[in-house]
Amino acid sequence: MALVIDCVAIGDEIMKEIVQETEALKAKGITPGIATLLVGDDFGARMYRGQVEKFCQEAGFNYINENPPADVTEEEVINIVKKLNEDPAVSGILPLRPFPSHISDSAVINSIDVNKDIDCFHPFNMGKLALGEPTFPPATPSAVIEILERYAREVEKVDPKDFFEGAEIVVVGHSNIVGKPTAFLALNRNATTTVTHVFTSMKGNLVKHTAGADILIVAAGKPDLIGPDHVKEGAIVVDVGINRVKVLDADGNPVLNEKGKPKTKTVGDVSFDAVKDKTKAITPVPGGVGSVTNRMLMKNALKACKIQHGLL
Ligand code: NAD
Repeated sequence: MALVIDCVAIGDEIMKEIVQETEALKAKGITPGIATLLVGDDFGARMYRGQVEKFCQEAGFNYINENPPADVTEEEVINIVKKLNEDPAVSGILPLRPFPSHISDSAVINSIDVNKDIDCFHPFNMGKLALGEPTFPPATPSAVIEILERYAREVEKVDPKDFFEGAEIVVVGHSNIVGKPTAFLALNRNATTTVTHVFTSMKGNLVKHTAGADILIVAAGKPDLIGPDHVKEGAIVVDVGINRVKVLDADGNPVLNEKGKPKTKTVGDVSFDAVKDKTKAITPVPGGVGSVTNRMLMKNALKACKIQHGLL
């Protein structure tokens, strides 16, 4: 019987640890803070902004909302970043993308102080990650590793070091935000790490790799990409994907809501019901990696705050 890893409980546990650390810092007269930078009003970015604000309130962090209109110039956005770099109330800066097309992602990211780059966007911090010396390991990949480390300690009762060393880890997805940094974090723990992506699938080679994984980490953004044939018996599966799909009835027709529109639900990249019993442990969607991601961002903000105050 597979264990469905309770990522919500893990997220709650980490939040308690963050609150305790924040209280200890406040006792020294220091308050950690996060500034988000949203340019315009992209829907997904706005949702994410709201979540960050809520978590900052829960943890007792400062929260600064920078939200210039979509027609702001690139120079003005960079000036906002420079102001945040100098602001002692801001420990970490989080650019929320996508930016409007006239604003270069890299121009904005390169202007962030590397000691305030809490989601590891800056090439300096990505380089440190690749060298195995991450200062701010990016939030989603860190959430994946944190879930696996806690699983190792609490369920398998093994040292996470032994859990990772030599484990066959296959990552599906090679984006700069999720797939690649997840692979670096696994490699930094001496796992035998394979990275697969859309071109692996196009050559018909995805199953060949995923079916050999002790730990399969999937971040492709493709519902039902991973079925039972892709998974080794007794593997641990971490599903990072978040997809909105239509709810279908038994005949495959969309189920409508009270307004006559198709009902939707959130699913991952793994066909959870079909795969679950083949695994030793699996993360669900919703209630999976996403429940831990924001907490990892806040842990990085705490770390940034300590670095800036000479406490680390
Ligand atoms: P992305 O679109 O930038 O990258 C997708 C990756 O998947 C690419 O490397 C691509 O080559 C690969 N891919 C696409 N189709 C594939 C196929 N058929 N076979 C194998 N590989 C394939 O996406 P991203 O930003 O890396 O996000 C990936 C998923 O993770 C999305 O569903 C996103 O919503 C989700 N996500 C979740 C969290 C979280 O906290 N849980 C955070 C960030 C992203």
